[in-house]
Amino acid sequence: MRLSQLPLTTFKEVPAEAEIVSHQLMLRAGLVRRLASGLFTWLPLGLRVLRRVERIVREEMDRAGAFEVSMPVVQPAELWRETGRWDVYGDLLLRIRDRHDRSFCFAPTAEEVVTDLARRELRSYRQLPVTFYQVQTKFRDEIRPRFGIMRAREFVMKDAYSFHLDQASLAETYATMAMTYHRIFTRLGLRFRAVDADGGEIGGSRSQEFHVLADSGEDRIAWCEGDDFAANVELAPALPPTGTRAAPAASLARVATPGARSISEVASLLGVPASTCVKTLVVETDDGGLCALVVRGDHEVNPLKAARVPGIAQPLKLASAERVASELGLPVGFIGPGGLDIRVVADHAAVALVDFICGANESDMHLSGVNWGRDLPEPEAADLRDVVSGDPSPGGGGSLTVARGIEVGHIFQLGNKYSRSMNACVLDQEGREQPMVMGCYGIGITRIVAAAIEQNHDDAGIIWPEPMSPADVTLLVLNPKKVPEVTAAAERLYEELQQAGWSVLFDDRDARPGVKFADADLIGIPHRLVFGERGLRNGKLEYRHRATGEELELELGEVVAALGSRMLPAEV
Ligand code: ATP
Ligand code: MG
Repeated sequence: MRLSQLPLTTFKEVPAEAEIVSHQLMLRAGLVRRLASGLFTWLPLGLRVLRRVERIVREEMDRAGAFEVSMPVVQPAELWRETGRWDVYGDLLLRIRDRHDRSFCFAPTAEEVVTDLARRELRSYRQLPVTFYQVQTKFRDEIRPRFGIMRAREFVMKDAYSFHLDQASLAETYATMAMTYHRIFTRLGLRFRAVDADGGEIGGSRSQEFHVLADSGEDRIAWCEGDDFAANVELAPALPPTGTRAAPAASLARVATPGARSISEVASLLGVPASTCVKTLVVETDDGGLCALVVRGDHEVNPLKAARVPGIAQPLKLASAERVASELGLPVGFIGPGGLDIRVVADHAAVALVDFICGANESDMHLSGVNWGRDLPEPEAADLRDVVSGDPSPGGGGSLTVARGIEVGHIFQLGNKYSRSMNACVLDQEGREQPMVMGCYGIGITRIVAAAIEQNHDDAGIIWPEPMSPADVTLLVLNPKKVPEVTAAAERLYEELQQAGWSVLFDDRDARPGVKFADADLIGIPHRLVFGERGLRNGKLEYRHRATGEELELELGEVVAALGSRMLPAEV
């Protein structure tokens, strides 16, 4: 690809609308442009990256024995009514009407459509198991599209669906898909983790997410090096502390904490660590009442776990400050578990505390030296909190590490939720009709591009993992107008490299060397070759590796061979 022919506009300045590095760099390097909220146009360099990701995904899905299909992006409402999801999917679903006033939606996913396909095409257990996949545009009317293509409204997903006679067969394909995903993300050159996940509204039992590790990730994941435990923090159980609680040492006291509402304000005012305080949240119960949840000051309530406590409203709903004030007469910010008329559920770590600090249920006051059993009743204990780094692993192999991740893939065992509601059956060995057992497997193709940049960049720009770079090599020719022999020699090398199978981004623009160097760093091709007048006189050119900054002088005649020995193999 010749930069002299590509209308490429790059920016030095960080675009104001972009909050995270990948979004900034994708705009600055001319990979994508925003059309409207959550809608993006992919420019030539960006599209090359996307195509390389798609290719690796297709190769691995084909290798796993899945069959590629292409289903419509516009889906009839009737199918969604069959599963009941027309009403429950909510505002993420973009609904449209045709000229006959019939209802459709723009595909956010394709369980209904593929189950319809399966009930028409599959008759017998002999045709099973089978996996269909597609690489297709999806639309989700996200409440907050943000971070560029990371959370867009229109994006490209690889979605796959498997059909089985029984659970054992599903488990086998699910394991194959997990392995396939490991191969895909390894081949893409990304650092990632597979973790157990919540199935969410899609239903079903087992599910795992694949996360690219990056500090900007919206998810938090926990794993233990010493055992196989790995889960989204949403799900990871926090083990109760072992051993018995120490005896109270301090006596109960009232302390003035004027204006100190948050745990950090209270802790710094009193000069104590947050872990000696508790915070109390009032939430709604499923019969419309109220319940207090108590966690240690340095811990966070986990909404999924809390909502799973019997009697608590699902999804978790915080009681409004007005309701807490009017029904309980309590000032938000100074609530504590003592003397409340409502049910109190405390996290195991909060139950283990002695001599702790909590709100006094009176404005600008806290209590110190508080002890369960002595100053207030023993609470109901439950696992209510997010795990933190250093917590013991539920696998027993050591302690947990918690880090941020970007969800790039998700695999589910769906069971027969969709096949039952849509009556998608096959005949089994005895000739009886059986609803098929299903699995589904998604990969965020466009999101992978942003995730790769989040994980691989420096102050100068993107550092592409080789397998997804828009080109293998970038060749810069300095002052091409000045010395025609330099240009001619660079042209010959450009041809030679392409013939040897490398894709080359050839910067033959009539631009200043400083501009070319800056753009090369910004665009982030792994290998850079620079052709200048001085080098040509000595029959040499300069090589630089984008990731390590390593520089070499190469003989003109051995460039192709030298590059070959530095490249990563295409296959793992
Ligand atoms: P998230 O939790 O990030 O909203 P999800 O769990 O709703 O995603 P899935 O239904 O599991 O998403 O979709 C499969 C994959 O599609 C996700 O793992 C993710 O990589 C990608 N994806 C989902 N929503 C978006 C989006 N708005 N923009 C880009 N990619 C997305
Ligand atoms: Mg998901």
